[in-house]
Order: sequence, then structure tokens, then C-alpha cells
Amino acid sequence: MQEVQPPKKPMAFYYILVLAVMLLFNEMARPYFDQAQIEQVDYGTFMDMTENQQISQVEIKDNQILFTGKEDNKKYKTGLVNDPELVDRLHASGAQFNQDIKEETSPIVSFFLAWILPLIIFFAIGQYFSRKLMERGGGNGMLFGMGSNQAKIYVPSSEGIHFKDVAGEDEAKENLSEIVDYLHNPKKYSSIGAQMPKGVLLVGPPGTGKTMLAKAVAGEADVPFFSIAGSEFVEMFVGMGASKVRDLFKQAKEKAPCIVFIDEIDAIGQKRNGANMGNDEREQTLNQLLTEMDGFEGNNGVIILAATNRPDSLDPALLRPGRFDRRVPVELPDLKGREAILEVHGKKVHLADDVDFHTIARMAAGASGAELANIVNEGALRAVRQGRDLVTQSDLEESVEVVIAGYQKKNAILSDKEKHTVAYHEIGHALVAALQSHSAPVQKITIIPRTSGALGYTMQVEQKDQYILTKEELENKIATFTGGRAAEEVKFGQVSTGAANDIEQATKLARSMITRYGMSEDFDMVAMETVTNRYLGGDTSLACSAATQDAIDKQVVALVRAQHEKAKQLLSDNLDKLDELAGYLYEKETITGGEFMRILKGEETVAEAEAEDEAEETAAASHQDDEPHKYNLA
Ligand code: ADP
Repeated sequence: MQEVQPPKKPMAFYYILVLAVMLLFNEMARPYFDQAQIEQVDYGTFMDMTENQQISQVEIKDNQILFTGKEDNKKYKTGLVNDPELVDRLHASGAQFNQDIKEETSPIVSFFLAWILPLIIFFAIGQYFSRKLMERGGGNGMLFGMGSNQAKIYVPSSEGIHFKDVAGEDEAKENLSEIVDYLHNPKKYSSIGAQMPKGVLLVGPPGTGKTMLAKAVAGEADVPFFSIAGSEFVEMFVGMGASKVRDLFKQAKEKAPCIVFIDEIDAIGQKRNGANMGNDEREQTLNQLLTEMDGFEGNNGVIILAATNRPDSLDPALLRPGRFDRRVPVELPDLKGREAILEVHGKKVHLADDVDFHTIARMAAGASGAELANIVNEGALRAVRQGRDLVTQSDLEESVEVVIAGYQKKNAILSDKEKHTVAYHEIGHALVAALQSHSAPVQKITIIPRTSGALGYTMQVEQKDQYILTKEELENKIATFTGGRAAEEVKFGQVSTGAANDIEQATKLARSMITRYGMSEDFDMVAMETVTNRYLGGDTSLACSAATQDAIDKQVVALVRAQHEKAKQLLSDNLDKLDELAGYLYEKETITGGEFMRILKGEETVAEAEAEDEAEETAAASHQDDEPHKYNLA
């Protein structure tokens, strides 16, 4: 898609304008400059020069006398003095002299100069400025563009976005391809009496490609694309937003068939309830939008796509049939989708042969399309930083970590004791995860501090997408969260602040199990909490009595405590492995899932693992000197 810009004036126009202004200035300012160059003398000098016959020409003006010296031919001026004998003296000196003749101006001309000309000048200046303001306001006479729409207009172009550029999201594409088909061939639908939906609402978390999909619909259908954000309608003055809506629809109808895309429609489409009372501007804008959507008859070819990540906050009137009656979910990509998105973005960079998008997609569980695009770009930037011209697998792996946990902190120095604690903490997580058969294998463990504040982390990787989890699996997850703290307790007999994030996550999971998943005996299948903001963090609101809340809290504590005890038991039963692995991690700072599992299963002692690692490093160094770790992926 190419954005359409208003036509520009040719450069010659500006050159001529500047030239005209300069000429005018020159004409007007010259007399003043000329005057400034004439030397001023006192009247006595003028009298002396007259008597000595040193003057050739004299010009008597209203308030001054201009004269020219005979010898130096220089111009002088002096003030006018009441001197009745001046004429006699000048005559006697032989100088040429005269007085300014005042032209009799006709009364019509003087009236014109005094009254009409200033009016014309003011009118012209006014016209000029109002034209300028109109140009900025989109040409409908609104002051500074208020009330006019500022939608960006795109027309189809060869490099437009198509469905093939949007990876994954097959359901959404299938849904939208009907719209494309309609725009190509409206008769097919009208002949049978079918009507296309006027509005399609794309809902999903941020960065999942909603804007891209809307552009792709326009690209596929080869029609113009108007794009505007919901917040652009909200103006300072009541009625301006509504006027923008009118203006947008007027333009869209002129260009029909076309696509109008309203991003973040919740900015204007929020529920009109008591809480919003008083915001007349937003309400009027919404009303106008509703009216416009009702207004266009059956099939005039304007399809409105809108995106939001808060569908539950939208006004029901906006969602009723005849307005945004079709809802297309654009969800976070699954494993296959993530791989496809990485491949699409991977085409834009030069990749080394060792790149395996499947592994990267597995590592980046839960990432949105925008984050995956960012991962590829971060990888490319890392390759440039290290002076390479190909993006390697380790670049991409590192950039997944950058996106998850931030950059490595170069100068964070942990004390020896802290480093030991972090090593035990991280191995605690990994060991508890590995010892419970249902937990996902560990991909990587590191104790290199990151800019996000994490001193170390254990990256777990799901082998495949899991859509449902059993109660046991969830309990195991909680045990894994508590594993870090449990390792510190088992080894050092004391606790540290390092587990704050684990505690938060374990609690959240335990609470959901009890209040939402019906996994407690006491509450059976009763929902105690509802999710209010599904796509933005999943906030919940409690829906139960204070006494029940009390009971919930007690159950959450009991659930987490039981798993914490389980983790401690597992670790104290495997204390030798915990010591061995923590010691190895302390030395190496980053270990892979493969190394971890080999040592755990006793297939390899630490000494062997180190020897193997060294051999690998030497092999890697012969290819690339600057690679600190050669990951050995499980
Ligand atoms: P949203 O409107 O849902 O917030 P965008 O459509 O603006 O997200 O997507 C932001 C960026 O993320 C896009 O420019 C694109 O690079 C990338 N992206 C998101 N989803 C996809 C996808 N399914 N396929 C390819 N790229 C994607």
C-alpha cells in the first residue's frame, strides 16, 4: 500500500514568490536608504556655503533642504528654518533652486488610497491565511483541521501487503477472504440477496497482526484503504469528532469500493454507561459512527474493519447485527504459526545454514507476531554488532532471551555467595521440573544477570502446544516455581529475596485453579472470579462473598504449601545431583538442557561434560572466533 500525499506546488512557484517580495521590498525601501546616505549639516554651514557660492543645486522640501556641493558634488541636507531672505541669497549665489510642486490629487484617488486600498490589503491577507488553514484542515474549511478527518489514504501498489505476508492466522484469513471475494464480485452475493457485513471487528492481543490483516484485505481486493486510529476522533470540542466521522464516510463513499480501517476502536466505542457520563464528545462521536453505519444502504462497497484488544468494553450498540456484526479473533500464534511468522520475517535477513526456526519457535512460547518480528531483527542486529554478514542460530537464540529477559548485564558483579545462591536457585527449578515426569524439559539455564533484573533463569520449552492442562500438570508447575526457593532452603537452610517473581506466579496459578478452573473440592464448579481483560494481561475480578474469599485464600496457601513441600522433598532426595549440577552451573554460568539431562541421568560426570564442552568450543572457535557458547540443543 502506498500512502497518498496531497499534491505539492512546483519549486518555481516559491522562487517567483521570493523574487517578487524582494523586488517590492527594494522599491519601497530605496528612498529610505538614499536618504540615509545624505550628510546632514547645520543651517549656518548651509548659509556659509551659499554665500561662498559653493552650492550648485538646491531643492526645498516641506521640512528640509537638500543641496549639492559645487566642488565635491556631494549631497547635503539641513532642516528648514523660517528665513525670508533665503530666496534672495540663493538667487545671488547663482545656484539652481526650486521647491517641490505639490500635485493636486483628485478626491476620488485620495479616498481610494485612504479607505479602499487598506481594505483590499486586509482582505487579501485574510484570504491567504484562511486558505492556508483550510489546506491544513483537509479542505473543508475547519479551523486547524479540527473536525476534519485525518485518515491516511492508501492506494493499491505493487508492494502492497497480501495474505501471504501474514503468517499463521489461517482462520482469520479464511474469514476475511469472503470479504475479498465480495469486493471482487459483489453481484455474486447481491443476486442471491445476501448482504455482506458492514463492519468486521478484529479482536486479539496487541501485535498479533490485526492491522496487517486489514491491509492485506485491501491488498488482495485491490481497493483503496483508509486508516485512522480511534483516538484521532476524540477532539477537544464537542461535535468535532462526529464531524470527522461524517467526513471520513463521505470520502470513503466517494472512493467505494474501499476498506476503512479504524484501529483501537475502543477509544470511541466504549460502553455508554454511567461512568462515562459527561464525556459528551465521545458519545456524540460514537452516535455519529452508529448512524453512519446504519446509513449506508445495502451494498455500496464500503467495508469497515476495526481492531481492538478490549472487545468486552465495547458498546453493545456497536456490536449488534448491521454494524460490527462479524467478529474475527486474531489470537497469539501457536507453535506452527510462530514458525511460519519467523520464516516470513527470516526472508528479510540473510540466514546461516544452521538456523532452525522450529527450535526458536519453541523457545518463544507465547510471543506475538510483533515480538517474533522483533526477535529476527534483534538477531540481525547482533550479527552486525559482531561483524558477521549472516544471522546464525545462536543470534536468534540470544535475541529470544533479549526479548524475554533483556540484554546481558555486562558489569553486574555478583559476590561469590550470591552467585552460588543463584546457581542453586536455578538448578532447583530445573531439577524439580525434570524430576516430575510431566514437566517440560529444560532448554537452558543461565546465571548471567539480565537488564530486566533477573539474576538468572531457567528456560523451559514445551515440546508441543498444550491447550489443556490437567490438575496434576498445574500442580507440578507450581512445584517447579517453588523449586528455586526450595533448593536454597535445602542447601543453605535459609531463604532470600530472589524468589519474589516465582511466588507471584505460583500464587496466580494456584488462585486460578481454585477460583476459575474448579479444581478444589469445596467449591466444585462454581466460578469465583471472572476474567475482565482477556487480551491485555487477563485481569480478574472476584465475584463472591467476603467469607468465601477468606476460604479461597486459605486454600491457595494450602495448595502452594503442599507443592513447596513436595519440591523440598524431591530436592533433598536428590541432594547429590543438586550439588553436582549447581557446581557445574556455577563454573559454566550457562548450561544447555542437553548437558543438564546428561549429568542428571548420570550418563556423564561433570568432568566428562566439561571435556566435551571444551572440544565443542574448540570446534566452534575454528569456525567462528567470536562465539562464546555453542548451544547443544535438546
Ligand atoms: P496489531 O495491529 O495486532 O497490534 P500489527 O498488525 O500492527 O499488530 O503487527 C505489528 C507487526 O508485527 C507487523 O508489522 C508485522 O511485522 C508483525 N506481525 C504480526 N503478526 C504477524 C503475522 N501473523 N505474520 C507476519 N508478521 C506479523
